[in-house]
Amino acid sequence: MRDQSQRRSDGRYDFAPLTDVNAKRGTRRSLTAEQREARLAYFRRRNAQRSAEEKKAALLREHRLYHNDPGYRARALVRAATRGAIRTGKLIRLPCEVCGALNAEAHHPDYKKPLQVEWLCRRHHREVHRRATAVS
Ligand SMILES: [Zn+2]
Ligand SMILES: [Zn+2]
Repeated sequence: MRDQSQRRSDGRYDFAPLTDVNAKRGTRRSLTAEQREARLAYFRRRNAQRSAEEKKAALLREHRLYHNDPGYRARALVRAATRGAIRTGKLIRLPCEVCGALNAEAHHPDYKKPLQVEWLCRRHHREVHRRATAVS
């Protein structure tokens, strides 16, 4: 009667419902260490599975865009070039040119010049794009 979890043929544990345990022992804390560990492992596995699926879906979306939308592809390449330039110090991250916010994004007025950027915070970046429905 000590361990109420049952090992299934696939090696996972099935749990006796918590209420059973509670009814017998009174509190949640009375789970055996093994039961607690198995329960933790179960949630850990479930979380890992879920985020892996989300990551896969996001990657697939990105992949599809990249191959089906030439504009997106060009923007992705320019964004990558921009990130590289920032990393190697060719490009210096500056505050928003409009309001001075520190978390500015690189805006490219001309995508053929990946190193010519304007620094704009998210809000002002969006505003620029709303006015001229062009590039990132
Ligand atoms: Zn701004
Ligand atoms: Zn932009």
